[in-house]
Amino acid sequence: MSVVSVENASKVFGAGHTAVTAVGNVSLTIEAGDIMLIMGPSGSGKTTLLSMIGTLMSPTSGRILISGKDTAGLGPGQLSRLRLHEFGFVFQTFNLLSALTAEENVMLPLLTAGVPGKDARTKARAALEQLGLGQRLRNLPRDLSGGEKQRVAIARSLANDPRLILADEPTANLDGQTGQDVTLLLCETACRENRAVIIVSHDHRLRTAAKRVITIEDGHLSAEERGEHDRHCRMHAGAAPR
Ligand code: ADP
Ligand code: MG
Repeated sequence: MSVVSVENASKVFGAGHTAVTAVGNVSLTIEAGDIMLIMGPSGSGKTTLLSMIGTLMSPTSGRILISGKDTAGLGPGQLSRLRLHEFGFVFQTFNLLSALTAEENVMLPLLTAGVPGKDARTKARAALEQLGLGQRLRNLPRDLSGGEKQRVAIARSLANDPRLILADEPTANLDGQTGQDVTLLLCETACRENRAVIIVSHDHRLRTAAKRVITIEDGHLSAEERGEHDRHCRMHAGAAPR
């Protein structure tokens, strides 16, 4: 069963003369292990599409199915449980809490999901170590570089073993090389654990990390291309040594 199925989904903001079709009749499916980059310029509908898939916004028409289940049939409590247990979110601005250490930031959604404190700490440490941040557990966000902050945010998104990771412009606040490195790290980790990933970005360099690449323009998707993931991912045999 597909992790995500988008069936003819549209999102229209406003009505009448001022109506804006942010996403128009989009269909796509995402399977476990897929790493999809949806690329498009500012205003093309990326955040709207990602928000609908992440059940933060409902479509005006069409359907979003998560693991075969139509999200239109779920109430607010069920949707927030779905997000907490099945999804990991990564944002452009990292969204770390400044008063909490790296470890505590990663623990927070686990505690919210009811994981006991000791287990949450163990899981948070494992996720941070996996992203090369084993020496940064006790640091506050202000003492971390941009790339490290985004790695903490990625660790947080992975800690609850999500089926699907949703990343909105994850490299927008990082320099080019750091952005590429961090994104590849996210994709390698997801690849190893057979999670599905959707990244939306205007940054075409991220196609090196993705398995599937789709372009969005004015709310419409174009034909799909193959990304270069297999060549770069260190989880794949035959990847170029770096
Ligand atoms: P992107 O993330 O690719 O920059 P968005 O999904 O944010 O694009 O926006 C797509 C289009 O929908 C834009 O024209 C934007 O102005 C419009 N839009 C987005 N959110 C809203 C909203 N809440 N109300 C009205 N228009 C919106
Ligand atoms: Mg956006």
